[in-house]
Amino acid sequence: MRIPAMLALGLALVPLPALAAPPQGAPEDRRFIRDTEIERRNQRVTAQPLEVRLDAPAWYAEGDAPSVRFTISNPNSHSVWVLRWELPTTERAERDLFQMHRNGVEVTYEGRLTKRVEPRAIDYVEIKAHDSYSVVVDLSADYDLDSAGDYRIQFRQPQLPVRTALAAATPSMIAPDGEGKLPSVLPTHVAEVREAVSAQFFFPGVPAELARKEQAPDQSLVGSYSGCTTTQKSQLSTAHANAKTMTSKALTWLNGHTSGGGLYLTWFGAYNSSRFSTVKSHYTKILDEFNTKTVNFDCNCTDSGTYAYVYPSSPYKIYLCGAFWRAPSTGTDSKAGTLVHESSHFTVNGGTQDYVYGTSGAKSLAISNPSKAVMNADNHEYFAEYQ
Ligand SMILES: [Zn+2]
Repeated sequence: MRIPAMLALGLALVPLPALAAPPQGAPEDRRFIRDTEIERRNQRVTAQPLEVRLDAPAWYAEGDAPSVRFTISNPNSHSVWVLRWELPTTERAERDLFQMHRNGVEVTYEGRLTKRVEPRAIDYVEIKAHDSYSVVVDLSADYDLDSAGDYRIQFRQPQLPVRTALAAATPSMIAPDGEGKLPSVLPTHVAEVREAVSAQFFFPGVPAELARKEQAPDQSLVGSYSGCTTTQKSQLSTAHANAKTMTSKALTWLNGHTSGGGLYLTWFGAYNSSRFSTVKSHYTKILDEFNTKTVNFDCNCTDSGTYAYVYPSSPYKIYLCGAFWRAPSTGTDSKAGTLVHESSHFTVNGGTQDYVYGTSGAKSLAISNPSKAVMNADNHEYFAEYQ
């Protein structure tokens, strides 16, 4: 179920960035049309940026947990609703929220990258007028703090997709058909984020016996399953075969269109040889994964708002969640496409990110920033699904 465009109208913060027209010949996409309609009806009204501060001690002693306090404040005279995965919470992070440096060198994110369903009303955190949201984050859960050094940490997001109205519309939006099918409630605006205070500290590292070890690919038999029912195993086996087919078709398409255009233009944007070969190398490695590597599936996650997630530095293990089982076998946001999406995140396959989600976001990114599009997981998924 989709919400009518009228309901998605918020009042006023900063409107979402304009979406460019789809390239000619691109497949018709109802979601894209709906988003542009919302866009046209929004009025540009500016507001105060949200303010982020990160508080940490100047140094940590041996054995201390490297915890920082994250606070985001809303100086506006109205509430702002932020998607909860755009903010640190007391749960494990779902994406790389912080940019961290140790002695000037960027520290890698080792946490999850998650593919979610479109936002629903329950996925927003309200920050009331002149109020703030604050949480203590243990950085060692998702970042490599094994070595001693001077650390600097900043919030990554210069802008956050938000809503400026939610409560009034909520009762009629929550359909009585179970949490799994809650209607999408998309962000309507973008809030600028101003970093008021960033954290800098000395951390002594962790003792060698507790340090993270490079996780080698799992060497168990092809198709190892954890916590999967017989039905799920069978669905995964089919999804794996379909993912192999669509990846193979994607590669064939690229080999036959060596100067881009068409589907490449839609999902990866304007052609240049280095971006094109980046994309080709990603699909080559993903196909090699599906053809020759041991892919391990874990079905223990039940979150209905999540399709799947991986730890990019741990190939080839894919965690499937509630939304995955509701997805169609093939086509847009399908089971097979989700496996392509997740596999593209593995560092050994090229290490894509989740800069944007969804077909309209992916198409816009291809137009506005092809360099990011060729490193965005959903763009790889959709290019393969549209084969
Ligand atoms: Zn992802």
